[in-house]
Amino acid sequence: MATRRGVLKGLGALGALGIFAAGYAPTLRKLGRGWWSGRKPRHPVYGDALPCEAAVNAAGEVTPSGEVAIAHAVCHGCTTLCGVRVVKDARTGVALRALGNPYHPLSADPPLPYATPVRESHRAFTPSGQASRGVMCARGNDAFEKMSDPLRVRAVLKRAGPRGSGRWRTIPFDEAIREISRGGRLFAEAGEDREVPGLASLRDVATPLDPGAPELGPRANQLGVMASFDDGRIELVRRFVRAFGTANMWEHRGTCALTMRAGAAALLSDWKGQPHLKPDFEHCEFALFFGTSPGQAGNPFKRQAQLLAGGRTSGPLRYAVVDPVQHGNDVLAAGDRARWVPIRPGTDAALALAIGRWILEHDAHDARYLAAPSLAAAAKVGEPSFSGATWLVVSEPSHERHGAFLRAAELGLGGDDAAVVVDAATGKPAASTACDAGALFFDGEVWLGGRPVRARTALSLYRESALGLTLAQASEVTGVPVATIEALASELTRHGKRVAVDAHGGTMHAGGFQAAWAALALNGLLGNLGWKGGVGTGGDAFPAFGEGPRYDLAAIPGGAKPRGVKITRESDYRETSEFRANGFPARAPWFPFGRALQGEVLASALDGYPYPLRALVSFDANPLYGAAGLDRLVRDRIADPERLPLFVAVDPFLNETSRWADYVFPDSVMYESWGVSGAWGAVQTRLSSTRYPAVVSPLPRTAAGDPVDGDAFLVELAMALGLPGFGDAAIPLADGTRAPLRRPGDFYLRAFANVAFAGAPVPDASEEDAALTGVRDVFVRHPGVLTPEEERKVAMVLSRGGRFQPAGAAYEGEWLARRWEKPVAFHDEALARTPRSQTGRPYAAVPTWEPAVGGSGEPLDAAFGREWPLRLVSYKSQTHSSMHPGTRIRSIRARNAIELCPEDARRCGVVHGGRARIETPAGVAEGVVRVRAGIAPGVVALEHGFGHWGFGAEGRVVDGEALPADARRGLGIAHNRLVPGDPTLARPGLLTDSVTGAAARQAIPARVVRA
Ligand code: SF4
Repeated sequence: MATRRGVLKGLGALGALGIFAAGYAPTLRKLGRGWWSGRKPRHPVYGDALPCEAAVNAAGEVTPSGEVAIAHAVCHGCTTLCGVRVVKDARTGVALRALGNPYHPLSADPPLPYATPVRESHRAFTPSGQASRGVMCARGNDAFEKMSDPLRVRAVLKRAGPRGSGRWRTIPFDEAIREISRGGRLFAEAGEDREVPGLASLRDVATPLDPGAPELGPRANQLGVMASFDDGRIELVRRFVRAFGTANMWEHRGTCALTMRAGAAALLSDWKGQPHLKPDFEHCEFALFFGTSPGQAGNPFKRQAQLLAGGRTSGPLRYAVVDPVQHGNDVLAAGDRARWVPIRPGTDAALALAIGRWILEHDAHDARYLAAPSLAAAAKVGEPSFSGATWLVVSEPSHERHGAFLRAAELGLGGDDAAVVVDAATGKPAASTACDAGALFFDGEVWLGGRPVRARTALSLYRESALGLTLAQASEVTGVPVATIEALASELTRHGKRVAVDAHGGTMHAGGFQAAWAALALNGLLGNLGWKGGVGTGGDAFPAFGEGPRYDLAAIPGGAKPRGVKITRESDYRETSEFRANGFPARAPWFPFGRALQGEVLASALDGYPYPLRALVSFDANPLYGAAGLDRLVRDRIADPERLPLFVAVDPFLNETSRWADYVFPDSVMYESWGVSGAWGAVQTRLSSTRYPAVVSPLPRTAAGDPVDGDAFLVELAMALGLPGFGDAAIPLADGTRAPLRRPGDFYLRAFANVAFAGAPVPDASEEDAALTGVRDVFVRHPGVLTPEEERKVAMVLSRGGRFQPAGAAYEGEWLARRWEKPVAFHDEALARTPRSQTGRPYAAVPTWEPAVGGSGEPLDAAFGREWPLRLVSYKSQTHSSMHPGTRIRSIRARNAIELCPEDARRCGVVHGGRARIETPAGVAEGVVRVRAGIAPGVVALEHGFGHWGFGAEGRVVDGEALPADARRGLGIAHNRLVPGDPTLARPGLLTDSVTGAAARQAIPARVVRA
């Protein structure tokens, strides 16, 4: 007789089976299609596995498959933008899977020679060709799902309820373009009795926005445009923005890694270009990384991982990673080649300067390099770059030139703008351009304007800053033992030029710019810029969108140059009418050293300061998820159309930002889109990746037959507005006529031609290469855009997925081939002579350690109070893309965890696997605890990319039909929602790096308690 207990056990087993069956339904469906289902699989051994791209027989002959076709494109799983080989159904054109492109330096090491026929390239995926096998990473394979994601936006949506309500109706593309350009009572159906300004009415490049404040620029500045990042299409966005005449455009740098870029900008004397400084991994013998996990974060992420693995196994590389979190780069296989140096969050500058101190005190700096005050002088001593270490700086606070470099003309040493040094040979002042070696350290008087003035060399100023803390004090601040500081410094000085110091997103904290500059400045002391095995700015890209060899795609006939202040206040407050009227402080901080402060866009627009936006267009941008603390700051205002009358998003998904839009246009993803992208600094050769719509798009079509996506939106909207540079006579040609820009292909195909013809043009594609990669289709779809000669060369570029310099072009002897010709800077004149908008005091103009301050200049620790024993940090996931919460990756890791070291877990009373709450001044989040020794004491860490509330984590109603949420996309904790605002500001504002305005997401005050 069955007992009750037995029945319950049986029900439990059935329930468990039901849960198992639900969880593994897709697998079961596939199994069900096996031989036992009665249907014969495609192959008796390989079942329904995808067909191979080609077969290679015993004689080595390659036979491409007839079932699948290949095309070369670019992955959008992250900002690395690796070249990929897309495998698609030969009949339908649907993408089946993707591999790494074996020609592409970001995906294969070494890449195949450019001339290798496509047929032969298949060997790279056979056992004998593994050396150049192209690879994809886990994120990239996951991002493949973007194309078929059931929650993707596939039609133009217009909100059918209050902003953010989740109620939408579909609307024809042409109608949406008309409404946005003309404006009107667009939301009367949703019960809103208001006139929405059309973009046509905003495009006024002549009338000042505010006659009393002409520095704000014209009325056209009332349109703002946010783009995600330079994914290869941003130049079309820029063209639209310039044609419209607004100064308000932003990429995402301010929310991503601006502190690092600004640190490199200061070091390399290039605030405008903000180059990407990277180690030459292949020949480096010792690398020191601050606030980044090479191979897991930073760019180019995948290539760095390959280079790092190669360097520490078969190469000479040893490295140390200074970070509050131990990452996947310090693996057992690395042995003693890799080590983790735990550090207290936000204190990197103190450690970097302590290392600098040790180097100077041990005379281990490269004095010969540092003494050369010009590029010509450096060349005489065999150096590929030079520094401004010996340049004299006026060092008298009461002097009007305080903080400025002395100029030769001021001292009667010549008529040019050259700096002044103390000639090491004569002990007398000399123009930097007329001296072979300057004194490294000088603190004395020079005769200026009829009186003696104190002057010091830039290196003297740096030394003073580095001596500000003893090693013991630096250890106290950072938590890094003195012996470790000494060991790191000593190791850095034992490898000649084959050393590198790198920094990245871990420096996105309130003192982040100084942290990055202080870290990167160690490269200056070591004199390794431009050396094989040292650091460099990468190989650059072939010119595509500028004044190219075939087409000038930068010119906009009849266009007006955008001008005026951005609403994100990325300029000098002293140049404003507000300053002239009120002086210091400004109503909110200004960031003259900021760039692309996307986090500030909505904050400023909704605050109406320095002026309101009337319309905002967002391209795949998601600052409400990506900018620390922004969601909390603007949540109560973003729904108010009075503050932002029109918000248009182009987005393949309703993400955390586009969910608030009035209109959402779909966008192409992955291998469906056009683009030309470059590489990041870790590729030392010249490289341009190209992509064109190579797979079938599920999106509706425009009248011209193109998918309704971001590119089509820009072109059609520009033509509806009558913007110059679009339409029939848009692109100037060499013969004085103009070509049309009526379709995206009109623009991108000509950019491809510029790439193909740059320098010595590429050879023509062979008939077979063109056929095997299907590239001719793109010319068939765009007849007459290129000449037949151009088509043959563009076919060559597209058949390889871009244009790539051979690896041998990276070096000239012991130097990197690409030289940096501006001075390496230990003192920044612009920082020294620009007052902060809130205090009137200048910025620290040498790499400096000081406890973090808020926008008001007040210390943050004191403002937050003492009740926060931990510091919260985030780190980049090795597998999980924050740009798309895909289902494949979620099956490996569904959520992130609250990570602590064992001692802190004990102190907080939480256990591994138990539940806990993180509390910060901004809020509370609950999750599962992971206790691991790879977290620095005093730190709580969260893996980034989880806890979405957009991207389908919430439901929506489209045309009256409810589309349910996929709650799995919301699992885990979103770090940025736990970041508080700046407590030192009079008005609510974001917590930022106090110099650049970069969103501060690291070193956040926190505590953890048992849930
Ligand atoms: S690193 Fe990975 S996710 Fe990023 S672009 Fe390359 S393959 Fe795609």
